[in-house]
Amino acid sequence: MVCDKMLLDDEIIRLVGINERALAILKENDRIIDLRLHAYLPSKGPVSVPAYVVYHNAARGPPCKGGIRMSSDVKLDETIQLAEIMTYKSALMDLPFGGGKASIVADNRLPAQEKGILVREFAHKIRNELTSGAFVPAPDLGTGPREMATIFGETHMRECVTGKPIGIGGLPGRREATGYGVAVVVEQAAKELLNSELSGLTVGVQGFGNVGSWTCTFLSSFGAKIIAVTDVTGGTINRNGLDVEKLREHVAKHGGVEGFGKHLSNEDLFTLDVDILIPAAIGGVITNENAGEIKSRLIVEGANAPTTKEGDEILARKKVPVLPDILANAGGVIASYDEWMIAKSGTRTRQEETYSTIKKALVTAFKEAVDYSSANGVSLRKAALALAACRLVSTMEDRGWV
Ligand code: NAD
Repeated sequence: MVCDKMLLDDEIIRLVGINERALAILKENDRIIDLRLHAYLPSKGPVSVPAYVVYHNAARGPPCKGGIRMSSDVKLDETIQLAEIMTYKSALMDLPFGGGKASIVADNRLPAQEKGILVREFAHKIRNELTSGAFVPAPDLGTGPREMATIFGETHMRECVTGKPIGIGGLPGRREATGYGVAVVVEQAAKELLNSELSGLTVGVQGFGNVGSWTCTFLSSFGAKIIAVTDVTGGTINRNGLDVEKLREHVAKHGGVEGFGKHLSNEDLFTLDVDILIPAAIGGVITNENAGEIKSRLIVEGANAPTTKEGDEILARKKVPVLPDILANAGGVIASYDEWMIAKSGTRTRQEETYSTIKKALVTAFKEAVDYSSANGVSLRKAALALAACRLVSTMEDRGWV
């Protein structure tokens, strides 16, 4: 299937000097696996659930690397878009991974045991992809360490999956890696783009799952003031700063943010007067309908693809910098690389080393993107994509593909 909404636009293609042959490869997906998972779920009875695995570009792999999304809304098109994002994210971070993604079209609020039934069936059906090393999944929206443990349970090979619990070869620091990375780039951006220290800056976050909650924890430990958080259940606001650990306890007990202090809707979050806005939940939330109303001085994409093309153009016209997903949320894949390597070598590491690897990689990538952006007069998103595309095309040349 040809991807007609590719991430690279004409300006990036011209800047990088991508030839027709390379472009034709980047427009296509290497492989799409289209599955139906048949299972019996105690709460629903017999179900047949669509599931997909997409390899966008495997030049820097195998493996193709990417998370497994579980959501009743997820579609094949979105899985393709997410796999493409992974291609450029891994290339930007200079990791030897192709871009992949998987999705299971099911409610991610199913009981853990029922999620496990679907994930086991999924792992069973793509067993060859997992055990051959073609695809190494990780958590994404709706999945976490428990689902990764289920995949390990099917293969009994530690290098088949990352984001596992520590006891079966998970990496200390992987759980909070993406949120830690978001906080690191926010700190850099505050200094370089807002000419400010983090302390005292106000932050609003959509999503309080893996990425959103750890982003909040690290940012508040770095001195920022988290004043608003929303999720699928609703939201909360406190101009004096939210107590993030108390919010974490509330979410663990009640299943969502709603009910913690003063209510805030998801719609109102995006037009709130905050210095930094961090969408860290779902895609397509900053659009032509709300981008004009955004008052924040900086947007940081904790989620994948939270900004539509039209939303992005409006923000560019308003001169609001956007730290793109392939940079801002790359902490997870950086840590996943370490977990994968350690699974292969049998060595061990510590949480501090994971944090230090993430920080080093992200500070370097942030600086490269800022320098490229000012040297070429393009947005940070275009700069990050151009840097990644350069690396990718050069790898395709090295392999004799182009
Ligand atoms: P998660 O399942 O742990 O949490 C998702 C959060 O989003 C929850 O708080 C949920 O309530 C909220 N949410 C879901 N639907 C919503 C809606 N309609 N409106 C508002 N909030 C909604 O997922 P996660 O792993 O934190 O992933 C969040 C985003 O970060 C996704 O875009 C994912 O692709 C991206 N991401 C995740 C990782 C990772 O390591 N987990 C790495 C890179 C990028």
